[in-house]
Amino acid sequence: MKVNCDNCNEDFEIKAKTKMKRIEGENIEIAKFKCPECGEQYQSVLGNQKIKEMNNKVKSLIERGKDLTLTIDERDKIVKEIRGLRSKIRKEHNRIKELVG
Ligand SMILES: [Zn+2]
Repeated sequence: MKVNCDNCNEDFEIKAKTKMKRIEGENIEIAKFKCPECGEQYQSVLGNQKIKEMNNKVKSLIERGKDLTLTIDERDKIVKEIRGLRSKIRKEHNRIKELVG
């Protein structure tokens, strides 16, 4: 993945090191990377256990949704469930981003 450095405006490829950080009793996965041009440091919050579990649920729902024998109602239910999970993931992501600061 390529990103653009806010500091020197250089495009660079991320070679992130991920690590777990413990904040207020929670394990949060963080990726740290550095601009090779100016050395500006960045960190990005990847997620936590809860987000991982919800992501897995979304994946399995997507798989289930591929079943061609599903009725429209069943498919609708799956789509709604995925939407609900995605919005929960977004909220959770924002919450832990604030924790990390
Ligand atoms: Zn830079």
